[in-house]
Amino acid sequence: MKKSRLCWCGNTELAPFSPDYLRCPDCETLILSKISDVIKIPVKNDDRDFYGRNYWFSHQEKDLKNPNILDRIQTDLAERCLHWLNTVLSYKLSPGKTLELGSAHGGFVALLQWSGFDATGLELSPWMRDTAKKIFDVPVLLGPVEQQEIEPKSLDLIAMMDVLEHLPNPVETLLECLKLLKNDGIVFIQTPRFPKDNSFKSLIENHDPFLEQLKTEEHLYLFSENSIRNFFSRLGCDFVEFVPAVFPQYDMSLIASRTRLVKHRYKNIKKSLTNSPKGRLIQTMLYLHNQLSDMKILYQESEADRTERMSQIKELTRLLNTSEKDREARLKQIDDLKALYLESETDRSARLEQIEELTRLLKVSEKDRAKRLDNINELTCSLKISETDLEERIRVINILESQILNLKNKVTSEVQKANKAEEGWNNLEKTLVVRSARKIGLIKTKRPEKEN
Ligand SMILES: [Zn+2]
Repeated sequence: MKKSRLCWCGNTELAPFSPDYLRCPDCETLILSKISDVIKIPVKNDDRDFYGRNYWFSHQEKDLKNPNILDRIQTDLAERCLHWLNTVLSYKLSPGKTLELGSAHGGFVALLQWSGFDATGLELSPWMRDTAKKIFDVPVLLGPVEQQEIEPKSLDLIAMMDVLEHLPNPVETLLECLKLLKNDGIVFIQTPRFPKDNSFKSLIENHDPFLEQLKTEEHLYLFSENSIRNFFSRLGCDFVEFVPAVFPQYDMSLIASRTRLVKHRYKNIKKSLTNSPKGRLIQTMLYLHNQLSDMKILYQESEADRTERMSQIKELTRLLNTSEKDREARLKQIDDLKALYLESETDRSARLEQIEELTRLLKVSEKDRAKRLDNINELTCSLKISETDLEERIRVINILESQILNLKNKVTSEVQKANKAEEGWNNLEKTLVVRSARKIGLIKTKRPEKEN
C-alpha cells in the first residue's frame, strides 16, 4: 500500500495498479501516482504552460496523434457536439443558462446558444478563449471555475466534456459547480470509463481501448461507473443517469442532479427549437445527425451481416472447390469405366462369336452323340442277345460237363473192374503154372499156399 497520494474519497490506503496509477480499494477509482510539475492551473504563459496553446497543437498532434483543435472543428460539430446537444435537450429545454468547463473551440457552446440557451464557455488558456470568441463568437470565461464571478444557483446546466479526469481536486471543483447550479440544475459529464474488476495485466492481455486513457501527464483520476456514481452521491447528487457515450468503447457519459431527472419528449424538444432561425437550423442538424446515427447502426448491422455472409460464401466456396475436385475425380472414373466398357464390348463380341462357334460345334456334337447313342442302344441290344446266348451255352456246357463227369465215373468204374479181372486172371495163371510145374516136378511140393 502506498500513501503518497490521496483518493478523492479521502482514502489514503491505495493499492498499486500499473506503473503510473494507484487503485482505491474503497471506491474503485484509479489515481495517477505522481502529478507532473508541468501542470499549472491557471495558464499564465500560453507558450509554455501545459494547458496553453501547445496543448491544442503539438501535444494533440505529436503526443496523442489527434488532429489539432482547429482542424477538429467541423467533425466535432457534426459528431460529438450534436450528440451532446441531443442529450442535453432530453433533460433541459431552452431558455436556460449553461456553462461548459473546458469549452475548447467553443463549438458546443455555440450549438447551445443557437438552441436558445444563454451559453457560456470556460477555458484555462487565453489563446483558446480568444480563438473561440473569434470562431464562434461565444463568451468564454478564463481560469478555474472557482475564480469566476457567477451568481450562485443561476445555472441550469454545467457541461464537463473530457474535463473531470484532468481536475486536481474534483470534489472541490464539483462542489463549486453545484453552488452555481439551480436546485434542479444538471451536470453533464463525459469522462473515460475504467472497466471495473480489470487488472492492468488483463487490460493489456485484452488490448482494452481504455489503456489509451492512462495518460500519465494529464488524467489524474479515472472513474468506473460505480466510482463516479459514488462520487456524485457524496456531493449530494443522488440522481445519476448514464447516457449513450460518443465513444462507448472507453468513455462514459452521464447526467447528475440533486433532484429527480425528468426527460423531455421529442415533440417538446422540437417545439423548443422553433423560436428562432438558428433554432430551426439546429432542429435540421439534429434531424440529420439522428438520421446519420440510425444509418450508422443499420450500416453496422449490415456490415455484421455482410461479414457473416462473406464467411458463409467462403465456406461454400471451399465446399464447392472440394466438390469440384471430387467431380473431376468422378468424371475421370466415368471415362475410365467407359474405356473399360468399350474394351469389354469388343471382348464380348469376340466371346459371342466363340459362343456361336461352340454352339454350332455343340449341335454337331449332339447329332454325333445321338448317333452314337443309337449305336450304343444297338450294341446294348446285341449284347443282351449275346448275353442270353452265353447263358444258354453255359447251360449246355454245364450239361455236357455233367455228362462227361458221369461218363468219367463210369469209365473209372469199368477200369477198376478190368483191373480186378486182370488181377484175378494173373492169380489164376500163376496157380496153373505152379500146379503144372509140380506135376512135372520141376518144383517140389510145398504146402499149398493159402488161397486168398
Ligand atoms: Zn477512493
